[in-house]
Amino acid sequence: HPPYQLGLNQQFSSRLAECCVEAEALKYPKPQLLYFNEKLASQFDANFPRSDDALAALFSGQEIPTDAKPIAQAYAGHQFGHFNPQLGDGRAMVLGELKNNDGKLFELDLKGSGPTVFSRGGDGKAALGPMLREVLISEAMAAYSVPSTRSLAVVSTGETVYRDPPQAGAVLARTSASQIRIGTFQFFAARDQYDVIKKLVDFSIERHFPELLLPLMQHQTNTALAFLNVCISAQAKLIAQWMGLGFIHGVMNTDNMLIGAETIDYGPCAFMDTYDPKTVFSSIDRNSRYAYMNQPSVTQWNLSRFAETLLPLIADGIDDGGNRDEDSLKEQAIELATQAVQSFIPQYEQTFRLLMCDKLGIDQSLDVDTANLIIDQWQQMLFEQKLDWTLSHYYLTEHVNTHASDKVSEDATAVKSNAVDAANKLLSACSNKAAMKEWLTMRQTHSSKTVEQMKKVNPAIIPRNHLVEEALQLAQKQGDLSAFNALLTNLQSPFEWPSDIKYTQPAGQKFNDEFMTFC
Ligand code: AMP
Ligand code: MG
Ligand code: MG
Repeated sequence: HPPYQLGLNQQFSSRLAECCVEAEALKYPKPQLLYFNEKLASQFDANFPRSDDALAALFSGQEIPTDAKPIAQAYAGHQFGHFNPQLGDGRAMVLGELKNNDGKLFELDLKGSGPTVFSRGGDGKAALGPMLREVLISEAMAAYSVPSTRSLAVVSTGETVYRDPPQAGAVLARTSASQIRIGTFQFFAARDQYDVIKKLVDFSIERHFPELLLPLMQHQTNTALAFLNVCISAQAKLIAQWMGLGFIHGVMNTDNMLIGAETIDYGPCAFMDTYDPKTVFSSIDRNSRYAYMNQPSVTQWNLSRFAETLLPLIADGIDDGGNRDEDSLKEQAIELATQAVQSFIPQYEQTFRLLMCDKLGIDQSLDVDTANLIIDQWQQMLFEQKLDWTLSHYYLTEHVNTHASDKVSEDATAVKSNAVDAANKLLSACSNKAAMKEWLTMRQTHSSKTVEQMKKVNPAIIPRNHLVEEALQLAQKQGDLSAFNALLTNLQSPFEWPSDIKYTQPAGQKFNDEFMTFC
């Protein structure tokens, strides 16, 4: 292939060179394009090659565009509560940023492109199954409008990677608003490099929170504190969306939390079927640190670690009338940062409550106590009767929808039978139908005016664990991508009831009790 330019920018690598170490891709014997997200690709102002071979060469790092600058990023992180001062990209490299059609920059990186200085004994490679898994789940997240890194392409390398059992190797091309993590700040705080942290703050504001720029310019605001606050609010929104969908990330280490509040690192994540707040799937999460119900409090813990990295800058930004009493500034900075971090849970709770109001079709303006009572009772009922989180909300939506349209019905008989059908589906799963009926009556008194909001937040389809497994097994063992492609297509329009009902059905309880995920 002749050398060519892809249309890459190099803002991160040029402005934050301290975070970057040059990286080189491995030579792979037989790169083959397995997946290319054309819809996502069309959103970028980029000169993607046309042929599958050229795309495979590009996305496996065999052909490096002349405007690329392959780098691995340095970061630290708390892994399961233990601080590691140096992690970094051990098996990924960033090529640069692509501009989307709105003029926003997105990093393009290749995961599984080979070892880097940060590999710590790892092989720098990725296996096909987990990369296809990331495509399914990240693209589902995007379809739900959850901020997420995106999957642009998967290329099989032609190599075997030595996992247990050995598997075909693959590279995943991802895009993200940036890959600056809490761990990136921690890396430089651990080394007392607050000049770099200041640059990270400025860069992150420009990239992720440009709406802050004007207010910061107009008022003499404490930049680092204002930045901390917007980061906290963005995380509260993200985690509320995860919780609403029953998404369990599985490895919420501080190196896996992006400052731009996009979901990243789809290793051991999975969706909950039966509602149980204690659900955890990750094989290595033995203490359930990252169980479903712990996600908000763990996020707050992570945000505390983040806030710590900003303390000197927050102190710098305090106006103390020129005194500059260092001890007092330090104390004030801690107090301000603590207040900010403590605002996380109330912000999360409010966002989650409003989301649940939408999911249950109750009025968002309902007083907090009443709304919480309806939500709590719903969750309690789902838990006690071992009901499926996703389907219960979907059937509730159908039930409310048919009820609502009853009043303005044109085709009364069709609507009636639908209404009966939806109510039946909701009730037939219940072991205590009386409790459900009672709850439905209570809900009805506080019903919101339309069901439109309900429909937008209650998908029919999630990546069901057994279907994901089945699709990956077929791809890994037989190179057959048909189940993967069919599942992906369904996940891309998750709010529509599919023609094949299997995409909506949970695995049996036994499958989920035994189901485990791996990093
Ligand atoms: P994760 O648990 O996916 O967030 O990964 C934690 C750290 O391990 C990161 O620094 C990764 O880059 C690194 N890592 C994971 N897998 C490999 C691998 N196969 N080779 C080298 N580094 C890896
Ligand atoms: Mg990671
Ligand atoms: Mg991972």
